[in-house]
Amino acid sequence: LKPFEVHVQASSLDRFRPGLTAAEWEALQSHAEQAREGMSGRTFWNVNSTARGGGVAEMLPGLLAYGRGAGVDTRWMVMRGTPGFFHITKRLHHALHGSRGDGSPLGLRERACYEDVLRDNAEELLVLIRPGDVVLLHDPQTAGLAPALAAAGAGVVWRCHIGCDVPNEEVERAWAFLAPGLAAARLAVFTRAAYVPPMLADRAVVIQPSIDIFAVKNQPLEPAVASAILGHIGLVGRSPDPPAPVFTRMDGVPARVSRGADIVRLGAAPAPDVPLVVQVSRWDPLKDPVGVLRGFALLLKQSPCLRAELVLAGPSVTSVADDPEGAATFESVVAAWREQPRFLRQRVHLACLPMVDPEENAAIVNALQRHAGVVVQKSLKEGFGLTVTEAMWKARPVVASAVGGIQDQVHHEVEGLLVRDPTCLPEFAAAVRRLLEEPRLSARLGTQAHEQVRARFTAVRHLSDFASLLRRLDI
Ligand code: UDP
Repeated sequence: LKPFEVHVQASSLDRFRPGLTAAEWEALQSHAEQAREGMSGRTFWNVNSTARGGGVAEMLPGLLAYGRGAGVDTRWMVMRGTPGFFHITKRLHHALHGSRGDGSPLGLRERACYEDVLRDNAEELLVLIRPGDVVLLHDPQTAGLAPALAAAGAGVVWRCHIGCDVPNEEVERAWAFLAPGLAAARLAVFTRAAYVPPMLADRAVVIQPSIDIFAVKNQPLEPAVASAILGHIGLVGRSPDPPAPVFTRMDGVPARVSRGADIVRLGAAPAPDVPLVVQVSRWDPLKDPVGVLRGFALLLKQSPCLRAELVLAGPSVTSVADDPEGAATFESVVAAWREQPRFLRQRVHLACLPMVDPEENAAIVNALQRHAGVVVQKSLKEGFGLTVTEAMWKARPVVASAVGGIQDQVHHEVEGLLVRDPTCLPEFAAAVRRLLEEPRLSARLGTQAHEQVRARFTAVRHLSDFASLLRRLDI
């Protein structure tokens, strides 16, 4: 169980300069300088449990690259676990969301398995980590590394990307499991104040996530190229003379999308001009893909002539190392799709996107989000939905559940539409219909959504929050 390193190249902060006011640019420079001085001679480590798939793996490359660009030695290690370990941590993930998951125990035997795996990982990490280094551990998978790393003299911070607005006994169960490890963390970072448990209140810091506006996933893409990419992977029909399905890699080199997606559908791909309702998410019950399908079915039942089709897209089911539920959840979506009448199955497309090349996957997600008529995120629970922020950056109209961190991202009728009760299909269907039928409303929400992300959810704000975090650590 040897952790492995993901290497990240430095990226200069200068690229943000044209999008910032003089005062914003100066503030960023001053935060970078403080961080550089404080971290001089030290390394800022990040440890998580997967190199791809999910929000943390999405955020780290950009943040670490800009950290390096600011002169801080940032590095990213991915811990390894066994299937039994990831079963326990997925159970903890559900519990921190206040959900029972599969209801499996979190007792002494599970703790022994959890600690064994982390002991092995800690041993390997301690070959690299030196006293005085800062280590940011992400999510429940890594919390148990804290005691060993802290004992070796590292400044350990734990960052929790999930949470539950109204804690219940599942949440308490998760905290009881994680408490011994977390006792060794100097600070704990949460996405919302409501997620902070009493035991960490004296050490808690709130930092919201961000997206990398320069990443392949968020780079500008001409509408015709977005359609060409989707046509190439088989998700939409091809237009007569499509441009090449090209995107620009992070190193600036142009590349083509070359693979196809695995798509469950009946009949033809939607024509390029058909408005798509799109949800892009891991295949996780808390993202409620079955609910999206049923909500869309209700919409079409109420309005059979509405011109729209649904795309539910996620990673190919075997690709996300720390998410053992993906395949079963995808199967449950296929089963729900099979139950639908034929006319509906023809208008719903379930796509497993190729994950072999992360930048190619990002280009496909970019194309899909930009091509979408409406982006939905019908999560039952959500720490913070990066997919929502990504769609907002692309000025797409969004329908999202008013749960968790989504409530900080979208204000109802300002940057999108919120569905108050995430389980209420009629409310969801009505919100989607409104955006499909009211293009002026959709355009206004999209413009305001883009500005909200520019002001609050890019790496500029996130890096400044990290500089404050280092100050709190006394570094
Ligand atoms: N994502 C992706 N390919 C997929 C599905 C998801 O790249 O097939 C990305 C998505 O664009 C987003 C991240 O995975 O950047 C998911 O983050 P989010 O906060 O929405 O949810 P999480 O998976 O962390 O619960």
